[in-house]
Amino acid sequence: MTEAKIRVWIDREQCIADMVCVSLCPDVFEMSEEDGKAQIAAKWRVDSNNPAEGLVPAELKDCVSAAVEACPVSIIHFEEK
Ligand code: SF4
Repeated sequence: MTEAKIRVWIDREQCIADMVCVSLCPDVFEMSEEDGKAQIAAKWRVDSNNPAEGLVPAELKDCVSAAVEACPVSIIHFEEK
């Protein structure tokens, strides 16, 4: 059986870099050293060159969901695969 995953993505252009997502869910979100905006941790990325999207284990859904709800500009999204 394939482990359940959730797809997470960030509309990074609109990120205001307040680090709320990182503080709530550091297993999934991190701040980019290149542009200072939030990104998906490298180990979860679908495409290593795309920091905006990842596939994470469903067991991380609660912290992803907390980040989605807390992001002040509502730019984090997820769907269950
Ligand atoms: S919570 Fe939203 S605005 Fe804040 S760093 Fe994360 S993605 Fe950017």
